[in-house]
Amino acid sequence: MRCAVIGCKSDSRVKCASEVIKFFRFPKDKTLNKVYKKKCQRSDTFETKDARICSKHFTDEDYVRQMKYELLQLPCPKNTRKLKADAVPSLNLFKPSSCLSTCNNSDARTRRQQKENTPK
Ligand SMILES: [Zn+2]
Repeated sequence: MRCAVIGCKSDSRVKCASEVIKFFRFPKDKTLNKVYKKKCQRSDTFETKDARICSKHFTDEDYVRQMKYELLQLPCPKNTRKLKADAVPSLNLFKPSSCLSTCNNSDARTRRQQKENTPK
């Protein structure tokens, strides 16, 4: 499963040790659904019911506060976090003005190879 946001390389099959990436469904609310879709900046049409957006695009404020952990002053486990009903993706979104290596497919391929070759 891949993140629907253009330029985002989050993939549920690729485990990242440094951070837990969670994938969220698109909201059922039609207005919010449109906002999410726009944030993805995809030129193709896609079914939002099958699409997911990863947690990299949400700030801490976008998540429902979990009082249980706050009261105990424990870090909230990231994989149990829930998005607020009105949360909108705002981080790590593709910016056409600053076209990074994301628009260069060969670069992405090289990096993937490097990853495979790196001993664990
Ligand atoms: Zn993403």
